[in-house]
Amino acid sequence: MPAEIVTVPCRSDNYAYLLRDEATGKVALIDAPEVAPIAAALEARGWGLDQIWITHHHGDHTEGVDRLRSRYGAQVAGNAADAGRLPKLDVALADGETVALGETVARMIDVSGHTVGHVAFVVDAENAAFTADSLMALGCGRVFEGTHAMMWASLSKFLAMPDQMRIYSGHNYGQANGRFALTIEPGNAALKDRIARIEAADAAGNPIVPVTLAEEKATNPFLRATEPAVKAAVGLAGADDAAVFAEVRRRKDAF
Ligand SMILES: [Zn+2]
Repeated sequence: MPAEIVTVPCRSDNYAYLLRDEATGKVALIDAPEVAPIAAALEARGWGLDQIWITHHHGDHTEGVDRLRSRYGAQVAGNAADAGRLPKLDVALADGETVALGETVARMIDVSGHTVGHVAFVVDAENAAFTADSLMALGCGRVFEGTHAMMWASLSKFLAMPDQMRIYSGHNYGQANGRFALTIEPGNAALKDRIARIEAADAAGNPIVPVTLAEEKATNPFLRATEPAVKAAVGLAGADDAAVFAEVRRRKDAF
């Protein structure tokens, strides 16, 4: 049976997600930026909370973990390799291990770069990837702890996924990301179309996620480091993908 996914806007620009396994009614939360909107989303649906999956240690993804855990009796899962910086883990996973929510199974994969130890949760049967601050809607996370090569290796894991994979990222930076993306590819029609849809979603108060990997590949300047036109646009015609990604990321840092 399928799973239902609910996007929960939190703080000023965060997204948390509820994932409900239809067969058992079990519910997982991906990241806990704060308590109130998540508790409200659960209570509006009459749902409990069985698990919390943490993507990385930053406070705007973890602040609500302990209070939600104690309020609902949820089990907290995350990356064993980063356990020292995460809220206490009830389930410590290694890269590539799976976590089950009833009949719904997610793979936890290491996508370090924004932090070392950042992970994504991928539910292959649902074509859903919870990417937080690794691959983001029309962008990628700033490389705070890892290296550009590490972040590119992480983004390449998403590039290898099916085009219909739906990307659920951790923030709405869509409009700012769009303004930057246009500096790299001012003539990209798919990009302009996507920016218009992001503006419309923001104006209507709707989430800008999820977006398919196919759409990210057509519009996201960080994933498009593989494209000859993007390589040329940053003065690196013929350079390897990782070097082009690093240059696009440096330009975004200075944007
Ligand atoms: Zn972060």
